[in-house]
Order: sequence, then structure tokens, then C-alpha cells
Amino acid sequence: MNIAINKYCPRSGKPVVADSLTTYRGVTVGFCNPHCRDDFAANVDERPNDTRYFDALIKELDHEGEKINEKHIFDRDVRRARFLDRV
Ligand SMILES: [Zn+2]
Repeated sequence: MNIAINKYCPRSGKPVVADSLTTYRGVTVGFCNPHCRDDFAANVDERPNDTRYFDALIKELDHEGEKINEKHIFDRDVRRARFLDRV
């Protein structure tokens, strides 16, 4: 599967781009550029802000037993991005 569960980079809030995907906990996650992706992939255990973001999205998907649906994920991710803006 090459659709990231998130639409926005957990770091910058910028849109995920197709050349900056990686796998985390068995799902595809994305970043705004390859540098973000490479840094995350090389330091997963030391990037709690990123993993918390992805964990929350994965938990929501798992909890509801939903198939990964692009529109649905988009809506959730937009809300989460707004939430992170306020923190
Ligand atoms: Zn980024």
C-alpha cells in the first residue's frame, strides 16, 4: 500500500509528498520531504512527537476497525493538524 495514513507531515504540517514515505508499525506514513522521512526512519525511537502523531492515527483506525479510506483519513488528519496548531 502506498497511501500514507497521514496527509500532513507531523513536523511541519505541510502536505505529505509521494517520495517521502516509509513504513511504521506496518502502515505507510509520510513526511513533507525525504529529509524528514530519513531522519524519522533512522531515529524512530527518539522521535516521540512523530510517533505520537502516527500512533494516534493508527489507534483511531484500529479502534473503529475501519478500512483505510483516503477521504476519512484526510478529514481526521486535518482536524489533528488543527489541534497540533493550537498546542
Ligand atoms: Zn516534514
